Amino acid sequence: MAVKQPVIITDKHEMRQWSRSMRAQGKTIGLVPTMGYLHEGHLSLIKEAHDLTQLIVVSIYVNPGQFSPSEDLSTYPSDFNGDIKKLVAVPGGVDVVFHPHNLYDYGNNSSSRIGGGGGVKREEKREKVVSCLEEKGLGHETWVRVERLEKGMCGKSRPVFFRGVATVVTKLFNIVEPDVAMFGKKDYQQWRIICRMVRDLDFAIEVIGSEIVRDNDGLAMSSRNVHLSPEERDKALSINRSLLKSKCAAEKGQVNCGDLRNSVIQAIQEAGGRVDYAEIVDQE
Ligand code: AMP
Repeated sequence: MAVKQPVIITDKHEMRQWSRSMRAQGKTIGLVPTMGYLHEGHLSLIKEAHDLTQLIVVSIYVNPGQFSPSEDLSTYPSDFNGDIKKLVAVPGGVDVVFHPHNLYDYGNNSSSRIGGGGGVKREEKREKVVSCLEEKGLGHETWVRVERLEKGMCGKSRPVFFRGVATVVTKLFNIVEPDVAMFGKKDYQQWRIICRMVRDLDFAIEVIGSEIVRDNDGLAMSSRNVHLSPEERDKALSINRSLLKSKCAAEKGQVNCGDLRNSVIQAIQEAGGRVDYAEIVDQE
């Protein structure tokens, strides 16, 4: 079978033009948003999208709006050429790789530079700096917030994260105008937030949540796993193991959420891990 080389588009206007011309031909489009450094977890979303739409757009963009200045934006792994090779090798391939340089470049000089000198006092500036995007002083000030679901769990230790995700996904939806968008349940809170956002803001897009893809030893695949030492990777296995143990206990009739939660925390701590949070919640 002939391999499909994806068209690489970096310009948002060109991306929108491509989508609109395909839609005018009656084609359906699936969008798989990613930050690159692709692995089997990402590729599983693409494979699933093939069953749902005729054309596939994969976006590769590390979004500064979801990183706080203290987070790992500058060390986030990337390998664009390696990513393209993986995408070419996926059965059915992908049609477009949307790889914008900067989704917050509005291409004019009138965008006020937040905190960019001009009489802004140092203290005021520091208060305003909450994400890497604002730190860079780019003229962006509109954010999408899913107010209740973004609080708690991952949102507690990463206060700008979900705001940044919801905003960049909105931008991607407006640029690509897909029929279907794929998200992984590895980032469960993120998936629920996007579903709620699409419902609340009337996006005509079907959001699909895809199952977690794990390595053979049970660790959920993640681009950031490359940063783990063998010891840290070993410790991380306690996350999946302890969750499975609690799931098993729940299925056998243990219904005390506090006990189930505590046993997860205890198992991870015993393996040498530090627990950010463990919670048992309703998915809505
Ligand atoms: P990322 O590049 O980490 O932002 O991930 C892009 C998309 O792939 C998100 O919807 C993730 O939830 C999804 N994803 C990442 N890792 C996995 C995995 N191991 N299994 C399933 N989906 C994943």
